[in-house]
Amino acid sequence: MRSPEQFTPLTLSGLAEGQGVLASCNPCNRHIVVSGSALAERLGGDWPVPKVSERLVCSKCNGRDIATRPDWKTYSMRQVVGATIA
Ligand SMILES: [Zn+2]
Repeated sequence: MRSPEQFTPLTLSGLAEGQGVLASCNPCNRHIVVSGSALAERLGGDWPVPKVSERLVCSKCNGRDIATRPDWKTYSMRQVVGATIA
C-alpha cells in the first residue's frame, strides 16, 4: 500500500518559469493554456495543478467539466488566458 504522500501532485509553484497549465474542456473538447503565474497569484503557489480545474470555467461553453495538467508543450508561452478563474 502506498501512502498518499507519495502521490503529491505538482503545485503551481512547482511549475517552471513561464510554464502554463493545460486545461481541457470535456464537453466542447477545447484546450486552453492558462498562465501558471496568473493562477499562482490567484490561487496560491501551494495549489495542486489538477485541482485548478475546480476553479476554471470554460469561456466557450461555460462548462466546468475541465481537466488540468501542467503544459509541457508550450513552455515559452505567451500570456494566454482563455478561461475564467472562478
Ligand atoms: Zn467548453
